[in-house]
Amino acid sequence: MIDTLPPLRDVIRDHDLRAKKSFGQNFLLDLNLTARIARAAGDLSGADVLEVGPGPGGLTRGLLAEGARRVLAIEKDARCMAPLAEIAAAYPGRLLVIEGDALEVDALAHLTPPVKIVSNLPYNVGTELLIRWMTPKDWPPFWDSLTLMFQREVAERIVARPGSKAYGRLALMVQWRADARIVLTLPPEAFTPAPKVSSAVVHITRLAEPRFPAKAAILERVVAAGFNQRRKMLRAALRGLHPRIEELLVAAGIPPTARAEEIGLEAWCHLARLLEGRAV
Ligand code: SAM
Repeated sequence: MIDTLPPLRDVIRDHDLRAKKSFGQNFLLDLNLTARIARAAGDLSGADVLEVGPGPGGLTRGLLAEGARRVLAIEKDARCMAPLAEIAAAYPGRLLVIEGDALEVDALAHLTPPVKIVSNLPYNVGTELLIRWMTPKDWPPFWDSLTLMFQREVAERIVARPGSKAYGRLALMVQWRADARIVLTLPPEAFTPAPKVSSAVVHITRLAEPRFPAKAAILERVVAAGFNQRRKMLRAALRGLHPRIEELLVAAGIPPTARAEEIGLEAWCHLARLLEGRAV
């Protein structure tokens, strides 16, 4: 037991919180498990935590019990407000709940650094939020680490290395500016209701600076062009970017006959630098 609040099954029954598909609701009811996820985010004691989609509050309780300085929880489903208010009352001054859409709420206004983001994300908005958090206008971003639940297949795309099927834009976008690893994998039965697929928690720690220099917009463009036609050789897939792309590929140390999935981050960044000011 991590606190004196009622078991989550009772909370769900008492507040008639039957999971709704439209909200992407798959709840974690095992408080030992939510405490484990909270611990995967590292020491929370001096940090504000942003949690998207607290639902009935299993992970929220884990975060508070593990010592988070404050938790800002953004939840779209109005039915969750009453159970979340009970948690806030049990942890005075440490939980702020905002009812709203995480894609629209200005969370930053309510957070004091250092900030960690920890969420069992709704699958329908998970990747979009990750991309937003990874691509702020300026680097470093407002957060220090992300500890996020995804469908396992998405988690594998985030941590993928060159040469694997899962390797692509998501891996490059995240690994350019952060370290990412899978810290926990969970079978469907860990959730209520059980989703169709397994899930995994990814822990992402931001770097102070990108791993290799490049302009974000150009890197994104060249990587997108390469992987949009991932079966093609790069000299063909990237033809539209520059009339002498073959020369630039060679200058970046990339065989023009290679395919996007064979090319590591450093070489992508090198190519992006060569394209700077020349991309057409
Ligand atoms: N954190 C809870 C847990 O682990 O049991 C619930 C996780 S459930 C997978 C996703 C939660 O996100 C749901 O409570 C859902 O209502 C909420 N949600 C869905 N879309 C949202 C959005 N755009 N903004 C904020 N919350 C959202």
